[in-house]
Amino acid sequence: MKIPDAPMEERPHAGLLLQRVREIAAGKLAPLTEKIDREGYYPREVLQALGAAGAYRVQMAAPRGNADYAAAIQAMAEVSSVCMSTGFMMWCQNACSLYIEQSGNAALIERRLDCHINGDTLGGTGMSNPMKTFAGIETLLLQGRPVHGGYVVNGTLPWVSNIGPGHYLGAVCEIDNDPSRHVMFLLDCSAPGVTLKHCPTFSGMEGTSTLSVRATNLFVSEAEVIADPVAPYIRRIKGAFILQQTGMALGVVQGAIDSMWAVEQQLGHVNRFLDNRPDDLQCELDDLKQRILRLAATPFESDGEYFLDVLDARAHCGELSLRATQSALLHQGARGYLMNAAPQRRIREAHFVAIVTPAIKHLRKEIARLSAQELPA
Ligand SMILES: Cc1cc2nc3c(=O)[nH]c(=O)nc-3n(C[C@H](O)[C@H](O)[C@H](O)COP(=O)(O)OP(=O)(O)OC[C@H]3O[C@@H](n4cnc5c(N)ncnc54)[C@H](O)[C@@H]3O)c2cc1C
Repeated sequence: MKIPDAPMEERPHAGLLLQRVREIAAGKLAPLTEKIDREGYYPREVLQALGAAGAYRVQMAAPRGNADYAAAIQAMAEVSSVCMSTGFMMWCQNACSLYIEQSGNAALIERRLDCHINGDTLGGTGMSNPMKTFAGIETLLLQGRPVHGGYVVNGTLPWVSNIGPGHYLGAVCEIDNDPSRHVMFLLDCSAPGVTLKHCPTFSGMEGTSTLSVRATNLFVSEAEVIADPVAPYIRRIKGAFILQQTGMALGVVQGAIDSMWAVEQQLGHVNRFLDNRPDDLQCELDDLKQRILRLAATPFESDGEYFLDVLDARAHCGELSLRATQSALLHQGARGYLMNAAPQRRIREAHFVAIVTPAIKHLRKEIARLSAQELPA
């Protein structure tokens, strides 16, 4: 496999982007973190500033962007170390741009892509249900019927983030109740027939504008189709889709490590009896990050071993997030347990890394299945 993780000096666009993203994270985002977590504030202005800074554009192929998935992941990590809810919404936005760009649908690209990657319009992804369906974990929740010029879609997706009136999301419906026929499309939240509802309160990620989406006789035109058939399209994009999520974990783990060092001078004499000390975690994180950035250099690689490596790196992200954030709370003690303290918030954020699709259990199921295929019996 090619290993082109070019150092930052050979990727000046990435250095510049990360500098701008750090400024936004420290300036606009940091003062809002508690409001996002505790009051469910949706940081639209931050998401749009990140778009203006180029955080969604950088992964796009030239001439729109630099085809630099590693930079997109690093930008997400910078934001997630301050507020992982916002980092997750960057992923939602990036996943949606991946869907549109890779659709090859000129009408859809023309209408949506540039305003989306600038952050002028915002969108999400309702792909947990299809991903779990294709892994044999659940059944498809949206049903479609072909009609002249498109499809009529019915059904409900229970949880979709980074959406609201005027937003949109990538979704998949089953056609004519045939589990082998699917169409992927961009669902416009403001289209007639779409109802958005608030979800019950979550223990974290409340500022992510996570809503249920109900489609009642929603007409989806051919101009909004992302993929038909869906299976080869998903096979092509799923490495990129999953790899991008690792930015959340890289950030939340770095934030946890930093909060351990913050109390080292005062509490190091007793914290040294704890497991998962910050220097050990930093080594593990740095190795994982290098591995992810290498994988991100070829996000559309179709080789089975490559995809297994992506799944394994993503599972490591979930596991390390849980371990590092728990250790950060043990290191900080009561100050980290205060309701406005970052360590307790990060524990809830880390649990989201572990349960958002593909959850750790889903990843392990896929790894077991693919390993059985890859290895001779
Ligand atoms: C804050 C938040 C944001 C999310 N954002 C998105 C998003 O943007 N896009 C997206 O596609 N998915 C989103 N999800 C869904 C997420 O990716 C997972 O699919 C979800 O967390 C469940 O995954 P799981 O593998 O643990 O399934 P499990 O929890 O094991 O679920 C298995 C089955 O039980 C059902 N189920 C679980 N809990 C309930 C409940 N309370 N009521 C009724 N049925 C239930 C599920 O629908 C599923 O069919 C979000 C979830 C959360 C909590």
